[in-house]
Amino acid sequence: SSTEESSEDEGQDEEQWLAQARAPMTEFEKLQAGRKRLPVFRYREEILAAIKDHQVLVLSAETGSGKTTQIPQYLHEVGYTQAGMIACTQPRRVAAMSVAARVSQEMGTKIGQEVGYSIRFENCTSEKTVIKYMTDGMLLREFLTEPDMASYSVVIIDEAHERTLHTDVLLGLCKDIARFREDLRLIISSATLNAERFSNYFDGAAIFTVPGRIFSVDVYYTKAPEADYLDAAVVSVLHIHISQPVPGDILVFLTGQEEIETAAEELTKRTKGLGSRIKELIICPIYATLPSEQQAKIFEKAPPNARKVVLATNIAETSLTIDGICFVVDTGFCKQKSYNPRSGMESLIVTPVSRAAAEQRKGRAGRTQNGKCFRLFTMWAFQNELDEDTVPEIQRTNMGNVVLMLMSLGINNILQFDFMDKPPTEAIMQALQQLYALAAINERGELTKLGRRMAEFPLEPMHSKALLASEKYKCVDDVITILAMLTVGNSIFYRPKDRAVHADNARFNFARGGGGDHLALLRCYQQWEESNFSTQWCYENFVQIRSMKKARDIREQLTGLCERVEIESVSSVDIDDIRKAITAGFFFNCASLTRSQDYQTLKHAHTVYIHPSSVLAKDQREGVLHSHLVYHELAFTSKEYMRSITPIQPQWLLEVAQHYYDAASIQDLSQKKKVPKAVGKAPETNR
Ligand code: ADP
Ligand code: MG
Repeated sequence: SSTEESSEDEGQDEEQWLAQARAPMTEFEKLQAGRKRLPVFRYREEILAAIKDHQVLVLSAETGSGKTTQIPQYLHEVGYTQAGMIACTQPRRVAAMSVAARVSQEMGTKIGQEVGYSIRFENCTSEKTVIKYMTDGMLLREFLTEPDMASYSVVIIDEAHERTLHTDVLLGLCKDIARFREDLRLIISSATLNAERFSNYFDGAAIFTVPGRIFSVDVYYTKAPEADYLDAAVVSVLHIHISQPVPGDILVFLTGQEEIETAAEELTKRTKGLGSRIKELIICPIYATLPSEQQAKIFEKAPPNARKVVLATNIAETSLTIDGICFVVDTGFCKQKSYNPRSGMESLIVTPVSRAAAEQRKGRAGRTQNGKCFRLFTMWAFQNELDEDTVPEIQRTNMGNVVLMLMSLGINNILQFDFMDKPPTEAIMQALQQLYALAAINERGELTKLGRRMAEFPLEPMHSKALLASEKYKCVDDVITILAMLTVGNSIFYRPKDRAVHADNARFNFARGGGGDHLALLRCYQQWEESNFSTQWCYENFVQIRSMKKARDIREQLTGLCERVEIESVSSVDIDDIRKAITAGFFFNCASLTRSQDYQTLKHAHTVYIHPSSVLAKDQREGVLHSHLVYHELAFTSKEYMRSITPIQPQWLLEVAQHYYDAASIQDLSQKKKVPKAVGKAPETNR
């Protein structure tokens, strides 16, 4: 047990001890000493024994105990990696990268060597890699090429309590695999006390609980609901900073990058206003798309006489542990995926957290000493309005990708698959219908050749369909670029408030030549390429170099994948061909102009609007209207906005999606009155 081990340490050779005591500890020694202070260390031998004795083990311990960073190292130290790698899955990309960096430091190796990580579009591993942190989605993809997981001796499904879609599917697949791979060790690791549920699902698997040491955390509620939780959060931080002694860092839970940036700006502004009367406040944002150099900053200790405030999404709820936090400010919200199976619409919506999540957040203040948690909602709301637990993602998401993946693993009856919590039947039916419309499955519900090829790509079915269609239209290279740019998301163009007109002009320049947002993205990338990937070019065109580099990486990966499945990489100059390929993937997302100059989705007659960031918003202002559009996604803010839009010809729909649009409905559409140019000119805006 642990006491024996520590006395062993003390019983070291006296001379050696003296030598060590005299020499200052190196960084590496400090790390090693830190490892031994973690709660799991006291149970090292017992945990290893339990893993040896049980093929499936549910491991439950408080956040920050050392589950993620230590258990893989213990297993490596006692030789498990001689038989195969150790996989440790994380629901979040940032966590996979950050934890891998930490563990390679602790092992004194370079990241990507013995310890590596694998996330979508970024593989940082090598032949030497024995401990592999990866997103749950990546391990799922590996099943396609290695259905028996032969490369691994141990699979750790970490953060299982998060119950992401991919984790849930992995649980099902691993349960199946464990039956015929007796040598494989499976560890389900979870921060909360629902270990029983995992154990039941794995036919009564053993549970190992590491007792946590939690200090007491005082909870404060607001007396009345907050009208503006963001402002309330900023005010709370300032209040804590002024009234509480240092050291003692603050962790604030917000819902996303935009809020975090606003809060950071406000805090900077308002602390400046207070001048030298207050101590320094170091502001550290952390969210999924923050560049990794800046991610490391949240772990740096604040200098004496200063305080650190970490502005985080729910990534800091359980995935990442930041030492030194004494105060938690909880807005009580997070961004959550929500899916309407009937309309097939998926969106990210700001949602109240569950009581379980609020308790986790609170716990972050009491890891090393007593702490305080400021909840920006009322006690009544906590007790009566919050759900007990977060609904597993599988019950609120589009299943298209997972259904396609399971089918290519030979699992045809998805409704019978042994899920821990079943997805709604409607969502599965919807996914099957979508795959049928995309021609990925046939009328008997079997995977087609096209479907099998689609599953090869780490993309949503609509994206992979567009990519495969581009082969037919001989514009593979262009569609790859467009998909890479779309995958990077909405962070390509920036628009500083004081130079908004210049920024808009730069963006609209890419639209010259027509073809809407998709073609504009393509031209943007091509021009950057022609500039020799110049930073100056990005600067002049209000384009974020970081996003462009990411797009370039994704592009390379997709090109590599195409080579592997022998898709010839060619570029086209015909913008219609490129748009047809896009339409072949995104024809579900089609909207047409109504007589009242609104756009309505074709299938559900939902009214939708052109997002102001679309290059088509300019056309619209100038009275140029397009009869049919396909869009990449819908964003819900004040209205339902279409984002990334391409105008199309209605007859293309028939060409690319016979399964979905019949001749009659297309006929009707084309008989709609043509809208003349410059009709319904929108009122002038001062943009
Ligand atoms: P668990 O998985 O049980 O929540 P972890 O293994 O993630 O715990 O964390 C153990 C300790 O390692 C924590 O005290 C945490 O602060 C530290 N740690 C983890 N990742 C990093 C990192 N990237 N930088 C610095 N410290 C880290
Ligand atoms: Mg962890």
